[in-house]
Amino acid sequence: MFTSIAGRSVVVTGATRGIGKGIARVFAGAGARVLIVGRDEAAAKETVAELAGAGGEVSYALADVARREDCQRIAATAAGRHGGIDVLCANAGIFPDRRLVDMTEEDMDQVFGTNLKGCMLTVQACVPALAASGHGRVILTSSITGPVTGFPGWSHYGASKAGQLGFMRTAAIELAASAITVNAVLPGNVMTEGLADLGEDYHAQMTASIPLRRLGTVGEIGHAALFLATDEAGFITGQTIVLDGGQTLPEALTD
Ligand code: NAP
Repeated sequence: MFTSIAGRSVVVTGATRGIGKGIARVFAGAGARVLIVGRDEAAAKETVAELAGAGGEVSYALADVARREDCQRIAATAAGRHGGIDVLCANAGIFPDRRLVDMTEEDMDQVFGTNLKGCMLTVQACVPALAASGHGRVILTSSITGPVTGFPGWSHYGASKAGQLGFMRTAAIELAASAITVNAVLPGNVMTEGLADLGEDYHAQMTASIPLRRLGTVGEIGHAALFLATDEAGFITGQTIVLDGGQTLPEALTD
């Protein structure tokens, strides 16, 4: 049983819906004080209301992670409300579909800006408070797409998600001196609002290619993040956990 999370200050970006909301719910359930971050105020308010009974404490801050000043404001808000930051879940991300031949420079800038630069800016802004905690934890939401697999329409997305892992490995070394660990969860296909937008055909195609024959849940990603945030996981850094129902395992789907 992990006992080290109650009362901890946790920042979750991209938590107005989807995986981030699932991560926030799990941390709140473990008694943490959680700051959820996104750009949509109505969704943020709705999420705070929805998680009110989960346990712990949940509040929101509006920010675009692609902007340095917004990331600095997130860090200041969490430190001001909770007296510091113990855990950062850098989860905000987008996955617009665009084939390479049609991809504009703006498409690339948008995806890299949110998924990769946004992740780096968020971590950078939170480092002083994470270091001050003496047991800082950073958990990045990467993906199987990019680090392990490819999927048509997502060359920019895959590059951004693989880029997060390149960032993670050096950040883990640099931040070890401040007793901060940096790890990543790599979800496969998880049922979220963002994934719902991809349509029924996509879901059916993915479910058929997953040995467990179902999509993942946001709670399952949240529990992996929670584990990485515990004191008990304090010797793990620069590592990844794949959560994909076995999707990346088979040489052929025969069953
Ligand atoms: P989602 O349902 O579309 O939710 C995305 C979240 O990110 C929303 O809360 C959105 O909030 C926030 N966000 C987007 N751009 C932002 C920005 N510039 N600044 C601040 N917040 C921003 O997506 P999801 O499926 O939960 O995905 C979440 C993360 O998991 C992403 O990094 C994604 O790459 C990764 N992932 C997802 C899957 C999957 O199967 N779902 C698989 C692998 C990896 P606002 O709209 O309020 O800004």
